[in-house]
Amino acid sequence: MTLSSANIDVAITLPVYNTFPHSVPEKLAALVSVGKRVLVPFGRRRVTGYILGDSQDNYHKDLKAILDVLDAKPLFPASMIPFFKWVADYYLHPIGDVIKTALPGGLNLYDFVTLAVTKKGEQILYADKNAATPLENEILNLLKIKPLRRKDLGRSLKQDVSNAFIYDLERRGLIVGKRKLKGQTVKAKMERYVTMPGSDVAFKKLSGAGKKIMAAVKDEGEISVQKLKALVPSAPRIIHSLEKGGYISILQKKVYRDPFGEPIRSDTTHILTGEQQHAVSKVLRLLGQGFATCLLTGVTGSGKTEVYLRLAAEAVQRGLCVLVLVPEIALISQMERRFRARFGECVAVLHSGLSAGERYDQWLRIARQEVTIAIGARSAVFAPFADIGIIIVDEEHDTSYKQDSGLRYNARDLAVVRAKLHNCVALLGSATPSIQSYYNVTKTKFTQVTLKERVEQRPMPEITVVDLRKYRDTRGIRRFITPRLHTAIKETLEHNKQVLLFLNRRGFASYPVCGACGEAIRCKNCDISLTLHQGARAYKCHYCGFTLAAASNCLSCGSNKIRLLGLGTEKVEAAVKALFPDARVARMDRDTTVRKGSILKILKGLRNQTIDILVGTQMVAKGHDFPNITLVGIICADLSLNFPDFRAGERTFQLLAQVSGRAGRGKVPGRVILQTYNPDHFSILSATDQDFKKFYNQEIHFRKSLNYPPFARMVQLKISGKNKEQTRQHALAIGDLCHALLKNDATFLKYVQVLGPIEAALPRVAKHFRWQILLKGLKVGPLHRFLQQILFENRAKISSRGIKVIADVDPFFMM
Ligand code: ADP
Ligand code: ZN
Ligand code: ZN
Repeated sequence: MTLSSANIDVAITLPVYNTFPHSVPEKLAALVSVGKRVLVPFGRRRVTGYILGDSQDNYHKDLKAILDVLDAKPLFPASMIPFFKWVADYYLHPIGDVIKTALPGGLNLYDFVTLAVTKKGEQILYADKNAATPLENEILNLLKIKPLRRKDLGRSLKQDVSNAFIYDLERRGLIVGKRKLKGQTVKAKMERYVTMPGSDVAFKKLSGAGKKIMAAVKDEGEISVQKLKALVPSAPRIIHSLEKGGYISILQKKVYRDPFGEPIRSDTTHILTGEQQHAVSKVLRLLGQGFATCLLTGVTGSGKTEVYLRLAAEAVQRGLCVLVLVPEIALISQMERRFRARFGECVAVLHSGLSAGERYDQWLRIARQEVTIAIGARSAVFAPFADIGIIIVDEEHDTSYKQDSGLRYNARDLAVVRAKLHNCVALLGSATPSIQSYYNVTKTKFTQVTLKERVEQRPMPEITVVDLRKYRDTRGIRRFITPRLHTAIKETLEHNKQVLLFLNRRGFASYPVCGACGEAIRCKNCDISLTLHQGARAYKCHYCGFTLAAASNCLSCGSNKIRLLGLGTEKVEAAVKALFPDARVARMDRDTTVRKGSILKILKGLRNQTIDILVGTQMVAKGHDFPNITLVGIICADLSLNFPDFRAGERTFQLLAQVSGRAGRGKVPGRVILQTYNPDHFSILSATDQDFKKFYNQEIHFRKSLNYPPFARMVQLKISGKNKEQTRQHALAIGDLCHALLKNDATFLKYVQVLGPIEAALPRVAKHFRWQILLKGLKVGPLHRFLQQILFENRAKISSRGIKVIADVDPFFMM
């Protein structure tokens, strides 16, 4: 979008809530457009800003002028600006920082561009020196001697040149910039394919091997040399003489590789089941008809992905873009594989596993409309598409969609907002939908689409509950690998099938206690007990990273008799290794997946069946599709049940139903052994029955009786500081302020509830003391106005040295 007026509106990357009008010097006028970054003066500093559009402020005389334009091409389309503004308003977050969060990191890669002079540039140098200014001539001269990196140019010139100046030379075709990415080693892989020029080629005269090859080519139409080699080992040689004889032609084709590095073959589209067909056509009726949100509730293994693929194909056909959100990297690889197999080149991926350069490249491919489909984690909700047909959110219930630092947004919610602003369809899919989304179905805000059965009539896994209370007095590993589970593992291994063991806690022992004085081994910086990690030979704090050597004595009495209570995945792994010495056991949790690529390696092991038993945390519970897993063992189902959080029951149900859903996805039926201390808890009972409706009906009553979401909105004010007393005083003062506001305004009194301040459930983390105030709003409007009064109008009272106050809108992690 080009801009008409002289002044532009700029959002800057500082904690300020408004945007600022700026004037544009004449020499930069041709370069400004919406979506580019600019450099602007702010006080004595120079800061980055984003051009949002024309400024309404054309009367103001002494506006500050922008100093430089930092991008050659826009980073986002103008149509995204209302979305950015919405996000800034809703989360009470500075708009410049919203945009910064949305954009990929490492934008200053421009420094690595190598500039060279073009033919046209050389002509000017030789023939028409007057066509350029002296400075331009000097630059052309320098670059003619040798191409220079952008950041070295200024040094060679002994003077600063602005980016805008360079872009102008580029725009006039006098120089070109080429970016070399660091770490960009993956080149497109080519493979040789063989086809037949006509269908009626006679090949009776050929040798046996030749005939065999021709028959295969005729059968498949087009076949890779690799595949022919498997049929006829000498194929690579023979095809050359066949080509000379005019029987076949050989061509090079680009093959896509999945994140495992293996080539992706184009896939076979499944014949849709009746339910899938019905789901697809129901959503298709809404596509292109404006804004709508659909909730696809499909049991685990019901083939939701195939539904996504069909809808994406239809949108692409109509020239619209498709955005697919997946909760985390491990699942992106699976989704990417399936989408690439179907759509090939037009897919971009965005996630934190990419290097800065790769992410930047993917972002630009989207911004320049070179791709039509983008797949990514949370932050991909900001993918810079201009025309979106459908936004798909897979595993919509997943808590990874909520960002827990900086801009604390929920990508699932924002997907719906973005769909509304783009006037398109949002499709949320899950086997265990969030209470919030299902409530929206009952209020007819969302349209429900259901898949009740697994594909090919595969049965849901059979779930057996084991009451762990019976084993309280059992000693050693038998206490958690109960006889029932032990036998099931043994049988599964005998049938060469795979086992998944789930426990939502990592480490070896989560509760080390002194045998002499009874004190727990606690973190120095947090009010929490340390976890023993045997692999790392250390006690670790899962909140601040503090570590203590495993050989340490009790910090209170000095005794060396430490009892290792509390279970973690590391101990489970050790136990199954001891019980099944011949099985190949692997573990997937945050400890084993720190290195880049390690998750993929484990998933690859599962797929290639070099792993017999996988032990893991919630990382293994999510949507993976491994057909050879026939047994899922839930070591202890209760860990998330006792969290001081109103969503504890919801999360427990989701985790258990999801992890159970990993069993029996192939031809052989699956079973689940669920071990629990609370066999009568309704979250566990409904997970055992895999009955979401049953769970929902009970949970929604509890939410309603206590005015929890979805019946009210919540905002948590988090107050923290290093000084205990100061933090407490400050929290109390903000509490007083909140209560005073309530008293002075009848609307607030009616619609806003203030709970607290109270000390947080984790009162000290990483040396910071923590307090909370919970605000509940029966209506969004008054709640937002209340917050604005607190955060903006009473800023002076709120901000204090050494104290941090954060507003978390729709909080997820309440401890
Ligand atoms: P979920 O609903 O759990 O996300 P997936 O989309 O992963 O399920 O599908 C489960 C498996 O079923 C996949 O391996 C997929 O290839 C297969 N599948 C999907 N649709 C069909 C179909 N119509 N016929 C046969 N197999 C199918
Ligand atoms: Zn002690
Ligand atoms: Zn700690």
